[in-house]
Amino acid sequence: MKTIIEPSRIKSVEPIHFNTTEYRHKALKEAFYNPFLLHADDVMIDLLTDSGTSAMSSAQWAGIMVGDESYAGSPSYFRFKEAVQEITQMPAVIPTHQGRAAEKILFSITGGKDKVFISNTLFDTTRANIEFSGAEGIDMICEEGRHPSIPAPFKGNLDTGALISYLASNGSSHVAMVILTVTNNSGGGQPVSMQNIREVHDICYKNGIPLYIDACRFAENCYFIQQREPGYGDKSILEIANEMFSYADGCTMSAKKDAFANIGGFLALRNEELATKCRNLLVITEGFPTYGGLAGRDLEAIAIGLHEVMDEHYLQYRIRSIDYLTQKLHSAGVPVMLPAGGHAVYLDAAEFLPHIPANQYPGQALVCALYVHGGIRCVEIGSLMFGKYGPDGHLIPARLELVRLAIPRRVYTQSHIDYVAEVIIEVFAKRQTIKGLRITEEAAMLRHFTAKLEELV
Ligand SMILES: *Cc1c(COP(=O)(O)O)cnc(C)c1O
Repeated sequence: MKTIIEPSRIKSVEPIHFNTTEYRHKALKEAFYNPFLLHADDVMIDLLTDSGTSAMSSAQWAGIMVGDESYAGSPSYFRFKEAVQEITQMPAVIPTHQGRAAEKILFSITGGKDKVFISNTLFDTTRANIEFSGAEGIDMICEEGRHPSIPAPFKGNLDTGALISYLASNGSSHVAMVILTVTNNSGGGQPVSMQNIREVHDICYKNGIPLYIDACRFAENCYFIQQREPGYGDKSILEIANEMFSYADGCTMSAKKDAFANIGGFLALRNEELATKCRNLLVITEGFPTYGGLAGRDLEAIAIGLHEVMDEHYLQYRIRSIDYLTQKLHSAGVPVMLPAGGHAVYLDAAEFLPHIPANQYPGQALVCALYVHGGIRCVEIGSLMFGKYGPDGHLIPARLELVRLAIPRRVYTQSHIDYVAEVIIEVFAKRQTIKGLRITEEAAMLRHFTAKLEELV
């Protein structure tokens, strides 16, 4: 098989600001060993997130110029609506400024005290919006999804056995909805199978529970179904997406992911009565129903991006580039999550740095080492992000100590990815020299964004 090439040529470039190890050492110290506090110009390869960091196409940039800024009834809205409907086949399409705004509107109406939302895994903003409404969120990830190093094709599936027994013992009248996150972002970007979506739909239908899809990475999920699930090899991504959404009553989406946009999102619904309630809330929080929180040019860029993301040459390259980096690291003995997910590579920091205990934040120590050694920025998903304190003030560590390298869409080339692999492998070779960290300052909630740390001697 020949090399899978990037499915696009480069027309416009952004310079990388090169710097030295000494410079980065100083910059990191000044940022209190928290790369969120770095100046982005001091980062050479930025793998902090795949959200809003995509490279737009020449067609999208042309769409920015074509975007119509009419307050009401903009033709850009109608092109946006048509693009969303082609994929979801849902009658009501409500634009929002990003994914969490769609969540906030939907859950303000469907949530509230004593309600429960069940999911394969709720993304953090989704859970936060559910809890903010007074409701509770419950994750029911399948058994395979709990083990980072054991490969399985659909580790994002919801545990249908757990759902059935929950409903048998608790009833269903208080269950506001089931939400399937595709792909499962918080669970490593692992896909959900069509069979699982169908089974979850059948359970929901029998129990009168609405099924929603958190569709941020719908195209990556559809590509995994096409490649891995029997019966889907000959189907187009659009056909697979149409079937997937046919099982749902509605969906929320962040256009900052699989729509290649730098901002945007939407809510799509089948129920017109619910859509009217959502639009009434939209007007007071986001804007008029034909623009939500967006400019006409954003709607135009999203409409074009939604079409481009279903290109199979793009998806093959996208999924392959994540797998390429994962395999390169795996064959060098670096502990990684297997198989590769759709948008990020995950390092197992507990195994990478066994000499650093959880209360010295091995994930954050690794994040810092990758920055100093190679100018790469990534994020800790471990005890700095999810750790809690017990009543005696001792750290209760997270279940896993992971480091996520999220790959922005269409931004980096294979040589950038090769460089990333080289840096990680070099750091792995001298892992004994990496020191643990201590928190000197932290916020009560979401502390990883702003925490200040220092290196232990
Ligand atoms: C990013 C994301 C969201 C929230 O979208 P924003 O545009 O960041 O508000 C919700 N769910 C999932 C799975 C996401 O990845």
